[in-house]
Amino acid sequence: MSEIKKIEKPRGKARILDGKCVACGERCASSCPVDCIEMNDAGEPMSVELEKCIGCAKCIKACSVDALEMFYTQEELDLLKQWEGQQSGGEEEIDEEEVKLREKLAQYQGVWVFIEQYDGEVAKVSWELLGTGRQLADQRKVELTAVVIGHQVEPMCQESFDYGADQAILLDAPVYNHYRTQAFNDAIVHLVDKHKPEIILMGATGQGRDLAGAVATVVKTGLTADCTGLAIDERGNLAQTRPAFGGNIMATIMCDRYRPQMATVRPHVMTMPERQNGQNGVIIRDDFAPKEEDILVKVLEVLRDKDSRDKIDISGAEIIVSGGRGMMNKENFSILNELAEELGAVVGASRSAVDSGWKPHDRQVGQTGKTVRPQIYIACGISGAIQHMVGMQDSDIIIAINRDPEAPIFQVATYGIVGDLFQVVPALTRRIRELKEQRHSGSVALDTAV
Ligand SMILES: Cc1cc2nc3c(=O)[nH]c(=O)nc-3n(C[C@H](O)[C@H](O)[C@H](O)COP(=O)(O)OP(=O)(O)OC[C@H]3O[C@@H](n4cnc5c(N)ncnc54)[C@H](O)[C@@H]3O)c2cc1C
Repeated sequence: MSEIKKIEKPRGKARILDGKCVACGERCASSCPVDCIEMNDAGEPMSVELEKCIGCAKCIKACSVDALEMFYTQEELDLLKQWEGQQSGGEEEIDEEEVKLREKLAQYQGVWVFIEQYDGEVAKVSWELLGTGRQLADQRKVELTAVVIGHQVEPMCQESFDYGADQAILLDAPVYNHYRTQAFNDAIVHLVDKHKPEIILMGATGQGRDLAGAVATVVKTGLTADCTGLAIDERGNLAQTRPAFGGNIMATIMCDRYRPQMATVRPHVMTMPERQNGQNGVIIRDDFAPKEEDILVKVLEVLRDKDSRDKIDISGAEIIVSGGRGMMNKENFSILNELAEELGAVVGASRSAVDSGWKPHDRQVGQTGKTVRPQIYIACGISGAIQHMVGMQDSDIIIAINRDPEAPIFQVATYGIVGDLFQVVPALTRRIRELKEQRHSGSVALDTAV
């Protein structure tokens, strides 16, 4: 194997420029880590001991009058040119191992979105991912493929075209009637081996999380869960951004040596693309179907969660009024209920409010709660911790009510009201009621209210 060394940037040496020093007090000499600058009695640098100089440029940075500079030998100048060429992606020299890796990666092409469905109904997150997938595919100049697996699910292929897919791979068989990890995993692994996609996106739902983890393990690639941002970097790799270290930083994760690059994204994180009915696309039918007797898990009966029918899903709400620790207690949420009632909104909460038992967990907005993207999000007595903001910052309009003008929530707010929520919220409710009454009597449009 031919070893090709990466060119190190030549460091050069420091050189004194005549007549520029203002004898500032030996800042250059004292900044030198190897004591290679000799000073004269006037407090000016006299010489630089080149044998010792390590080219760290600390003296140059310390000098406020540019009395020192870096200089390079001709050999170093040539190296510098080559180094700059390498940096700008010019004549890049790569070793055999890198060539093999690039050849392997080049076999993988195209962006796939797994179309999650349950009882014939597609999970909305799949359409959201087709929107994102479209942008990634356009940037990579490759095709966007919807992967539709189920029983009697062919109409979902047309729906996928309407949401932006160029083609759909369809696996339609009774064995796929209900989601089971083994059957769906075998199916996707078979498709990956056959078609080699470079990117696979799935919803960070119960089903998507289960399937993505299983597939990534079998095809031996990386998976980034719960991404909040996806982009293509300058080398054509998928840059997968997600909160890390308890949400305190946003990390961008790359999978640049393995394919496919796999990511899951929570519902409502990506924007829903506009549906354009009647779009054309190609359906690629694949008859791969594991034998029913080989699947260990059997679905005997499907029991619907009765409670879930009565539960409100805040992630789909168009207007949310959320309360935090500033609400002080459970009873005070009644003022948010009243405002929500007037606006046709649902009530959400920060984790502090949920942990205090003021609201159930299914109302929690944020990293360990729901991601929401309503038209209007009203945050009352919520400070705006990063873990809360990752769950609501993409709302169209954010109205923050907080008595602390320095509260971080104001950094993402479209409108900020600095004040006591126990005065502001009832005043808002009253005003909306008044405007509604006036509208009923035919004089004012409600949209002037908020
Ligand atoms: C791993 C991890 C995951 C997390 N996940 C989540 C999550 O999913 N969702 C989430 O919300 N948090 C989450 N958190 C917690 C998060 O870090 C914050 O602690 C939490 O969001 C704070 O909630 P808060 O804004 O309601 O309370 P506080 O930060 O205490 O803020 C209360 C605010 O109310 C204001 N206020 C008080 N009284 C009034 C008044 N009368 N009028 C107006 N304003 C008033 C105060 O000025 C203050 O800004 C998580 C933390 C970790 C470590």
